[in-house]
Amino acid sequence: MSRKQVEKFLEENREWILKNRKDMKVYEEDTGVGLGIGAEIKTKLHVLRIVETEEPKPSYRLEQEKITLFIPKKVDFSKEEKIVQQFLLEIYTMECRRYLPQRIRNYAEKFGFRYGRVTFRNNISNWGSCSFDNNISLNIKLMKLPDEIIDYVILHELCHTVEKNHSAAFWKLVGKVCPAYPTLRARLRKYNTRI
Ligand SMILES: [Zn+2]
Repeated sequence: MSRKQVEKFLEENREWILKNRKDMKVYEEDTGVGLGIGAEIKTKLHVLRIVETEEPKPSYRLEQEKITLFIPKKVDFSKEEKIVQQFLLEIYTMECRRYLPQRIRNYAEKFGFRYGRVTFRNNISNWGSCSFDNNISLNIKLMKLPDEIIDYVILHELCHTVEKNHSAAFWKLVGKVCPAYPTLRARLRKYNTRI
């Protein structure tokens, strides 16, 4: 994705944020990741910094992988957190679109899995799922995880195209395509599906 596309994306999104911030749902209060002024949040492809500004409206600046989000001084913290959360969610979504489809395709080709559509979701119930007709859905918060754990999640869902439940046969198949899965699965548990 070119810088121009990212800027366009964020610009469109900024308008949306400004319009919708009153209705934004706070679904996460115990992230452990500070989203306040001074926070620096690393995602797969960007580093987001939150900075205070005297300006009356939120704005952002993009310099390669660095995104600075400027939050007006007069905005109270509860509102500010929502702006940052929504901004971060949009960054995750954009990164998923750029990062995941090729990765899924490569693993499917390598191991001979067939799958339908791939969608990205912002949910807290799981990291991924595979529907009965083999459409794969992945959590956009995967973008805060290391590559090898993301790959485990991808392979886990691809294995569900063959084995629909978590039977012994399923785990045997996971072990075949991802021998390190017990360790990766344990590491995944240390992350939450929240922001
Ligand atoms: Zn599963």
